[in-house]
Amino acid sequence: MKKELQEELYERYPEIFEIGRDIPNRDELYEPIHTGITCESGWYRLIDSLCFAIMQICRNKQVKPPRATQIKQKFAGLRFYYSGVDESAYEEINGAIWMAESMSHRMCEKCGSTQNIVITKGWNKTLCGECYEEYNKERKHDVETYTPEEFLLVDKNYGVPISTKQE
Ligand SMILES: [Zn+2]
Repeated sequence: MKKELQEELYERYPEIFEIGRDIPNRDELYEPIHTGITCESGWYRLIDSLCFAIMQICRNKQVKPPRATQIKQKFAGLRFYYSGVDESAYEEINGAIWMAESMSHRMCEKCGSTQNIVITKGWNKTLCGECYEEYNKERKHDVETYTPEEFLLVDKNYGVPISTKQE
């Protein structure tokens, strides 16, 4: 993700991204995200919405928000890992994450468009029609694709909120 966008998220959600993350000797459980957000910028709004939802859930329950430990793309989808969540907010937060991860398969990772979405085979990537054309040009051939629906049927874990998300 572009550095400026990442910094915007860090500033907007300091508790989730733990501003002041250079503090030495902090509790390892609260080790903040240290690899940066390793997906492309098209999912910026999605991650922003997810963080907003997490903050709202925690505000409503009057609990401390969890820390993001890793945000990345895996198998063409968004993955959001966290630690340190209050048990009372656990299910709602997992539901919000599941929704965001579901949406990521219908949103171009490069540009954020939701038009003509395909998922490339091989190095799975969720792309819109235009970014897919670019992708093919770079590779000098047409890469085979799944529709999001085909892809999600291939993924047997899909359709069940993952209850082991907390690291
Ligand atoms: Zn695109």
